[in-house]
Amino acid sequence: MTKKPAIVCLSFILLLFNTLSYSQNKDSLMIRQIFDQALTSHLAYTQLRNLCKNIGPRLTGSGQAAVGIEYVHKLLKTTGCDSIYNLPVMVRNWERGEKETASMTSSILGTNDLHICALGGSIATPSAGIQGQIIMVDSLSQLKKLGRQAIEGHIVFFNRHMDPRFIRTFNAYGRAADQRTLGASEAAKYGAIGVIIRSLTLADNLYPHTGVLRYDTAITRIPAVAIATRDADLLSQWLKKDPSLRVSYTTHCSENQPVPSFNVVGEIKGSLYPDQVILVGGHIDSWDLGEGAQDDGIGCMQSIEALRILLSLGYKPNYTIRCVIFIDEEIGQAGGRAYAAWSLATKQKHRIAIELDAGGLLPLGFGMSDKSPLFEAFQKWQPLMLPYGLYNFQKGGGGVDIGFLSGQNVPLMSLLTDSQRYFDYHHSGLDVFENVNEREMQLGSAAVSSIIYLLDR
Ligand SMILES: [Zn+2]
Repeated sequence: MTKKPAIVCLSFILLLFNTLSYSQNKDSLMIRQIFDQALTSHLAYTQLRNLCKNIGPRLTGSGQAAVGIEYVHKLLKTTGCDSIYNLPVMVRNWERGEKETASMTSSILGTNDLHICALGGSIATPSAGIQGQIIMVDSLSQLKKLGRQAIEGHIVFFNRHMDPRFIRTFNAYGRAADQRTLGASEAAKYGAIGVIIRSLTLADNLYPHTGVLRYDTAITRIPAVAIATRDADLLSQWLKKDPSLRVSYTTHCSENQPVPSFNVVGEIKGSLYPDQVILVGGHIDSWDLGEGAQDDGIGCMQSIEALRILLSLGYKPNYTIRCVIFIDEEIGQAGGRAYAAWSLATKQKHRIAIELDAGGLLPLGFGMSDKSPLFEAFQKWQPLMLPYGLYNFQKGGGGVDIGFLSGQNVPLMSLLTDSQRYFDYHHSGLDVFENVNEREMQLGSAAVSSIIYLLDR
């Protein structure tokens, strides 16, 4: 049967389009191969499943974190790194203990249980718990206005929402996080007996989101918890009807002696510039409420996968490609600090450092510090990556762990992901393997592998 002219014409356009996409350019062919390799392999996703399901959450300093470190060490070996070594570091050893309980009681409205969790690094309540009336605020500065007279003997409830108007949710998180990191000591200055923080998420549900707090050592420590957003809304509604209602909560956390731990390093030696390093990494520690899937098991697995893909394609790097799996990003950042100190002491030369710690959601591009000598070239790579949905090549990049290298003038870079759902999972019981999409994860692995390839020239 003869094809109609319109169909022939359409076929021709499609053929032309495909031909253009599969440009003969060497780089675009290599990037195509990287994506093909990533999207047809289930290995990294299976490794993430093992990490999440067989090892589980990996609170810094815990036995599970130690098992996680052994696991990534083994993965780097099977991936084919030339050398794998551990960099020792002492880390904090905070434990949550038994599950927390909380309730609110009103003489008008009755009693209602609340979903809470202790903030990381918090002290425990006395074994009988604490109980008090609530002062609801939405900022640290409001405490100053209220003063000691209003706050003394009360529990301060920080109820500032993450601002939903930000398109990139990391910006909303950044503007709400001071309640969690500094709220306890700021409230204690005015005599508060405890603090409750609205969970840092845009989701409306009953999952509390933990995260680290920082006590001011000059101020009395008070027990701090996060409350699920739905319960935060309910508590605020009840407070309007009954300002004298009382909340009680009990937590069982403890801070034990610091323990020895490690950053794990795996390298493929460069053939032309072996002493210059392209660093890529994530952090193996996680919070304990979920499985540390998005934050940041995935960043670790994608870093290792990025190396595996290049090796599987027979690629021999010019620069040394170094995968660093950091420990203790969540609580003390001891891993990032220790790596930077080691780098300084041993005069490491980094061409660039890339951190993967924004979840394994759909990758959208990369951020790079514009002071980097590579920045101009970086911006020209956008057309090569556009066929894979990677359109965003923006100024500014980094991460908590590699941030400590900025003092050594190391250019920093990060993978940018679609952030809309990230804080639904972040630091909560929802950060589990089931909430990872294999295709999104592998598009990220391929994106990172491709950018390493481009940085290696
Ligand atoms: Zn993280």
